[in-house]
Amino acid sequence: MATDPFADRRRRRAGAPAGWALAAAIVVAPPVARSDVEALPIFDAHVHYSHDAWEVAPTADVIALMRKAGLRHALVSSSDDEGTQRLFAAAPDLIVPSLRPYRKRGEISTWMRDDSIVAHLEDRLRRYRYAAIGEFHLYGADADLPVPRRLVQLAKRHGLILHAHSDADAIERLFAQDPDARVIWAHAGFDRPERVRELLRKYPRLWADLAFRSDHAAAGRPDPEWRAAFDEFPDRFMVGTDTFTPERLFYIPEHASWTRGWLASLPPALAERIAWRNADALIAPVWKANRERPPVAAGAPPDTPGDAAHCLRAAQAPGARTLESAGLVLVFRTRPQPVRVGERFSVDAALCPRAGAASVEGLAIDAAMPAHRHGMNYAPVLRAGGAQAWVADGLLFHMPGRWQLSFDVRLAGRTERLAADLDVR
Ligand SMILES: [Zn+2]
Repeated sequence: MATDPFADRRRRRAGAPAGWALAAAIVVAPPVARSDVEALPIFDAHVHYSHDAWEVAPTADVIALMRKAGLRHALVSSSDDEGTQRLFAAAPDLIVPSLRPYRKRGEISTWMRDDSIVAHLEDRLRRYRYAAIGEFHLYGADADLPVPRRLVQLAKRHGLILHAHSDADAIERLFAQDPDARVIWAHAGFDRPERVRELLRKYPRLWADLAFRSDHAAAGRPDPEWRAAFDEFPDRFMVGTDTFTPERLFYIPEHASWTRGWLASLPPALAERIAWRNADALIAPVWKANRERPPVAAGAPPDTPGDAAHCLRAAQAPGARTLESAGLVLVFRTRPQPVRVGERFSVDAALCPRAGAASVEGLAIDAAMPAHRHGMNYAPVLRAGGAQAWVADGLLFHMPGRWQLSFDVRLAGRTERLAADLDVR
């Protein structure tokens, strides 16, 4: 029992609810050996402490469980984030906060189509500090919906890691949106080790946690296929309990002990990396940088673009791209798509100044080929396209190659330039 953390899962498959089985497991689990705590630190990269866990497991008890487990750090997220803040306040040396885009448990499958999630994220990001956004559940083409896109942009703006419970398709879409993103692939996508290796090869900024998997180790040894993955990518795997039901919080020490058990068969340097060093190397610098950012003064204007709904709507148009500057968010798309050399095209642009900023006073759209140091031979004609929206007609790229489309926005008496590259064939 003590060495089998997945007993609850098997029982659940057999028809018993996970929570009941777990409660039984807690009663019979032997205490964790003191030598375990002293042996190998663990960075538990997958802990939740949601609103319905507080009564089952009070904050002080959860911290005590983590200390007993010998955790060096825990990456914690929760619906509605309040539990994360409670744990962090109780043990700031131990808890690394991650911001979950859920206000309550039921939002797992609806958040990606719920515009109000963006305001929730922005509000929390103003008031608290985090190392990551997640864990969020996101599959396939849903990753390209406007709300997930905004989530990716918020992570980018705040320099945060993404913790994604996703299939491989959604992981690829996240990197398409932001090739510089750092992503922890929760549960390694519950995918086969071969497929996990393919993605790790393709994306150097992808890591994987092994939370709530039963296939990577058994009887104190890693599975051979997984062992090959660990050998190929010794720097990219980390472990986690995944306390997705409140009862699983009691299971953190047992999970740490079980983890030490199968890691003991690996070379010590590799075991240490998977146990804590990989998570630490990725998460600690991000956390340090964000933790030191000064808090936003009370009463300061919110970070939300003044007319977020307007820009979210524009972002739903096929092929829309979003640019951001200190003062505004700009969503644009070209018509037709893609733009072809020697053919006239138009640009639709929706501008959303951040709240507190003045409204847009003027806009100029132009394009140039930076590598060739020349612009277009045609001057586009600009017209209004609705409130805070413009249309530029008559653009034409006369050469193939990389063009840069630029938007000079007049805002509060100064000009902000936003630019996007377009590869034209
Ligand atoms: Zn989880």
